[in-house]
Amino acid sequence: MKKTKILATIGPSSIDKKIMKKMIDVGMNAIRINTSHGNFEQYEKIIKNLRSIKDIPIVLDTQGPEIRLVSKKKYDVNIGKKVTIGFSDESETYFTKNFSQQVKKGDSVYVEDGILNLKVIEVKDNALYLVALTEGRIRNGARVNIPEVNYDKDILSKNDKKVIKFGIKNNVDFIALSYTRDAKDVNYLRRKLENSDIGIISKIENSKGVENIDEIIEVSEGIMVARGDLGVEISSEKLPLIQKKIIKKCNQKGKLVIIATQMLKSMENSSIPTRAETSDVANAILDGTDVVMLSGETAVGKFPRLAVKEMSEIAKEIEGSVKSNVVIDSCNTISEAISKSVYDMTKILPISKVISFTRTGWTAKIISRFRLDVPILAIASDNKVKNKLQLYYGVESIVFPDMPTSQRIKKVTMLLYKKEIVKSTELLLFSGGVLIKKQGSTNLIEVHRCKDILEINRK
Ligand code: PGA
Ligand code: MN
Repeated sequence: MKKTKILATIGPSSIDKKIMKKMIDVGMNAIRINTSHGNFEQYEKIIKNLRSIKDIPIVLDTQGPEIRLVSKKKYDVNIGKKVTIGFSDESETYFTKNFSQQVKKGDSVYVEDGILNLKVIEVKDNALYLVALTEGRIRNGARVNIPEVNYDKDILSKNDKKVIKFGIKNNVDFIALSYTRDAKDVNYLRRKLENSDIGIISKIENSKGVENIDEIIEVSEGIMVARGDLGVEISSEKLPLIQKKIIKKCNQKGKLVIIATQMLKSMENSSIPTRAETSDVANAILDGTDVVMLSGETAVGKFPRLAVKEMSEIAKEIEGSVKSNVVIDSCNTISEAISKSVYDMTKILPISKVISFTRTGWTAKIISRFRLDVPILAIASDNKVKNKLQLYYGVESIVFPDMPTSQRIKKVTMLLYKKEIVKSTELLLFSGGVLIKKQGSTNLIEVHRCKDILEINRK
């Protein structure tokens, strides 16, 4: 069983039901809908198609305060060429936002993931005058980064507010918050989600997000290292260390972490990845990520199924060498101590599965962060918790009715045995909570040979 989770962006290349099914068959664990592209009709179709195949987690990704180019013509730009880009449709080429008040002479403007780098030579109310420092292209829809400009106070665009309503209505599992700058941004989205139990994945893609990473981790369910925009906003050479640091922090806190963008980029057009890409995916897993993500590879690429398959193969090859980052000196809660003990016991007993009874998902998550060699089977009491847990490293999850733990141990074991998920000779570790019912109430570990439980039940 593969432990690393694969999150694939669905788009024109993969919206077809048959293709999505094939992607699930080769290891896709969850889908992302990127609302920077497409329309609500398409998002609805993606969700409908997916749910007719399998109920796996859906991540709905906001557009955030991004800036794009609108251009009536497409043209190549050489080094030294002067370019004028306006702030309204009076110009042939213009930005989707007016930031003339925040930008100044000498600032850098990056187009299309930084391929085209322009320098501001003059700012006017209605246009920016720029000179090209690299070769590139101006085209309609190209994305723009201006690292010096903190151009928007509202983290959610008008369209994002509709996206959130759509997400609540369609009962998605996570919302990914683009360009998260601080805990306030996350709390603002949390209020917009009203009392829904949708999880928030904060996307770290600018310098503010990196600076405020600790407070963001604290209030988020998960973090996405969004290397596409981050690589432009703070230079791509800084990415490898930032990736490692963020993963480590998330692992320590038991928070979900996703590594995103250009993981198998060349597979948009090629049926095999480059050696560097294979290595990048492997290293992200060794760093301790829960999830590796595919973007263009599966949304618009030629080989969506092969891209997922390739990631699965890399994951299976590398997982045997994954070591936990987590350091425990002392514990604040009983369930934290239990999670550490579960991990220790799997190292000194031939336990084949950890079965975690979890109401909020919390205990399964903090066990998962130790990157056990054996699978964790989370027994959730509601569907949303079950779905969200599917994204965590090494966790498989099912829903099973809430009942006293001793009874649940017997009933769940019977079910798993019947479904041939466990064999009678297996040694199983159970963890759960007795007496208290709130988050972090895990206070029990039991270890049983499967057949012993089955026998008691027969008597
Ligand atoms: P995006 O986010 O694909 O929505 O831009 C990921 C990234 O920036 O890396
Ligand atoms: Mn981005």
